[in-house]
Amino acid sequence: MRSELTIDLGAIRRNAAVLRRALQGAELWAVVKADGYGHGAVDVGGAALEAGATALCVATVPEGLALREVLGRVRVIVMGPALSAEIAAARTAELELVVADGAIPEGVRVHLKLDTGMGRWGLSELPGPTREVVGLMSHFASADCDPAFTETQIERFRDATVGYPELTRHLANSAGALRYPAAAFDAARCGIALYGISPFGESAAADGLQPALRWESELAQVKPLEPGESTGYGRRFTAERPTWVGIVPVGYADGFRRDLTGTEVLVAGEPCRVVGTISMDAFAVELGRELPIGTPVTLIGPGVEAEAHARVAGTIAYELVTGLNRASERTRRIVVA
Ligand SMILES: *Cc1c(COP(=O)(O)O)cnc(C)c1O
Repeated sequence: MRSELTIDLGAIRRNAAVLRRALQGAELWAVVKADGYGHGAVDVGGAALEAGATALCVATVPEGLALREVLGRVRVIVMGPALSAEIAAARTAELELVVADGAIPEGVRVHLKLDTGMGRWGLSELPGPTREVVGLMSHFASADCDPAFTETQIERFRDATVGYPELTRHLANSAGALRYPAAAFDAARCGIALYGISPFGESAAADGLQPALRWESELAQVKPLEPGESTGYGRRFTAERPTWVGIVPVGYADGFRRDLTGTEVLVAGEPCRVVGTISMDAFAVELGRELPIGTPVTLIGPGVEAEAHARVAGTIAYELVTGLNRASERTRRIVVA
């Protein structure tokens, strides 16, 4: 196998415990959209429920139906808009829907979404809740980086919802849950922190979180480059002195993006620089010495955080992990219970 993804459900359960402590009695709802941020929605959702999460949140009705089928009776909240053609199936499966615009569907539990500053999905004013409505929610635009605006959103949400103590009020994402006790309200929808990835783009350990995902491969070829010789398309890396390079059989089709040139991975536990253009199915690393074929390479794992790769690629770790290709022909997936 060219590479292996290992998901540690123990880490998910420990991260859920960290979030529950931060939430001080408010419910933890585990966000498992996009197949659990690339980690596997069913596995992560199950582990989060074991650790005390009380609902699962997804983005689409089909994602919710898939969870219902495997996980049975659990609260599933579909945060994105449901297509009108999907509402009957959602009702039958007893999914809960979010209404951010337009009419409130009948016979299905509904959360009304207020726009308190995200400027995306959301109602600018709350309509009178019908009997279908069980929750009121909003979403932060910048809880990872802008305290003043986040406080404004918390205040707007509090003011708009104060008259409905019988409804479940939920506002916070991971960043909000970790940094703003006043944002906890009745429940928080946490994704990224559950996976042990920092919502702040820093080291997750600073918040007591532990990455749940390891991505490993090995050196498939090792070769010396003489000065002037290059590796990869476009000859973007040319050796200035005699240099050993290792070829790793993972590329952008696996989710190791083309803009990760220059990041570091661990080869036999040592940091090594990714050099040259990343191909569809392979990339090169600069080695300090000749190493045997089969030497282990850690792409993401202890000592190589997804956050560090994201900084090199000019993106966020969310995008990196949701972009991993989990097709079994390319990657073996191992779940550690
Ligand atoms: C994705 C999402 C979340 C979770 O955000 P994290 O930063 O991953 O915790 C919460 N609420 C809504 C509406 C979302 O779309």
